[in-house]
Formats: sequence, structure tokens, C-alpha cells
Amino acid sequence: MAEISLRDVRKSYSGLEVIHGVDLEIADGEFVVIVGPSGCGKSTLLRMVAGLEEITAGEIAIGGRVVNRLEPRERDIAMVFQNYALYPHMTVRENMAYGLRIAKLSKAEIEERVARSAKMLELGQLLDRKPRQLSGGQRQRVAMGRALVRNPAAFLLDEPLSNLDAKLRVQMRLQIKELQRTVRTTSIYVTHDQVEAMTLADRLVVMNAGVAEQIATPAEIYDRPATTFVAGFIGSPA
Ligand code: ADP
Ligand code: MG
Repeated sequence: MAEISLRDVRKSYSGLEVIHGVDLEIADGEFVVIVGPSGCGKSTLLRMVAGLEEITAGEIAIGGRVVNRLEPRERDIAMVFQNYALYPHMTVRENMAYGLRIAKLSKAEIEERVARSAKMLELGQLLDRKPRQLSGGQRQRVAMGRALVRNPAAFLLDEPLSNLDAKLRVQMRLQIKELQRTVRTTSIYVTHDQVEAMTLADRLVVMNAGVAEQIATPAEIYDRPATTFVAGFIGSPA
């Protein structure tokens, strides 16, 4: 059974449809990347999975449970966005522990999870710092650590690297790949960057104007693009 499934998912704003019926089945542990030009509907689609936008029609299920009417916090997902908002008055450790404290986990369990995630993201030396004492890349790693400690059924990431410079982006991409190999949490990752998409994805969803033009592995998309849009978009550098 799919861990996340979208059935004919649609979104309209003031009667104007911007997502035109997307079908997508994501297996447990799969890393799916939604890629496409600005304005094609990537964020809207992700926000509907997260529960931050209501869906106009169709059905979304996570872990076999239809979530159409569930609040974000009821969906067992963790999100990482481009504008990672860390709590400025809290240390890295406190930022990572905050969600777990709200979920009323034991102190020992919280410490254990924070330590494990900090190790995976190489945050060990930074745990007592405040966000203003961190670089952009370090902050983004804390944002990921905060998602990771929650041990959710799925990660939803919306252009998490787009505020970083090119060199850091490549470093973080490698780190995400390593995380993906070790943690294997079902993930949907949104980007407009073709290289990022091709290197990270188990499968890609190439979107154009609210339509999923092709859903396939990077190799399949590279070898047999389904439409001229896909061929042109994947073929041209960002
Ligand atoms: P992407 O993330 O791929 O850049 P978005 O999902 O942000 O694209 O936007 C998809 C389309 O939906 C765009 O045409 C955008 O203008 C429109 N849109 C997004 N959010 C809203 C909103 N809150 N109200 C009206 N239109 C919106
Ligand atoms: Mg977007």
C-alpha cells in the first residue's frame, strides 16, 4: 500500500483551477521530488498534502488514512521550508526539543532523539548556540533536525536549499542524500532546480501549469521524456 496517495487532487482559487487533477502514489521510504518552473503549482500541491491548503476536489491519504479533513498537526508529517523559522530566543537544542515537549515525550526520550538527530546532521557542536550565532547552512540543518526528531511518517520539503549559496547547496544536497539513505522516511521534496531534482529523487514528478506531465525515475525521464515540455525543462540547466 502507498504511504502517501493523491487521487485526482485539484485546487481552485476564486473559481480558477491551478492544480488540474494530480494522481500520485508514493511508496513507504520513497523520496519523490516535484520539479517544475515557478508558478506551476509545486507549493500548492505540497501545502495540500501538509493540510495548509484545503483541497478543492480529490483525495489525499497518508499511511492509508484519508486526511482531507485533518489539521496539519493530525497528519503525522514534518515540514521544512525555505524560510525556516527557528525560535530566536531558544538554543539549537531547545529548538529541536520544542515539538517533542509539546507532544509530551519523556525527558529521556527527548534527549535521546535530539542527540541522535544532532549526530546525523553534525549539529553536536552547535546545540547550545542561539540561531543568530549560526550560518545560513547551519540554520537550515537545525530546521531539518527539528523535523527529523519528530520521527514523522513523512517529510515535506519546499525548496529548503534555495536561500543558500551555490557551494552550500551542493553540500546540503549530499547531506540530504546521506540522510535519505540512513533514515528512509517517505519524503516529498519540491524544487525548481533540475540538477537537485535529478540527483535526489527516487522518482520525479515534472509539473507544468498545474499538470503532472511525467512521473518516473530520473533515468526514465532522461531517456524517455514524455512530452516536449519535459524534454526541454530537464534538458536545460537551471
Ligand atoms: P510554485 O510553488 O510552483 O512556484 P505555487 O503553488 O506557489 O507555484 O502557485 C501555483 C499557482 O497558484 C500560481 O499561478 C499562483 O499564482 C497561484 N496561487 C498560489 N497561491 C495562491 C493564493 N493563495 N491565491 C490565489 N492564487 C494562488
Ligand atoms: Mg513554491
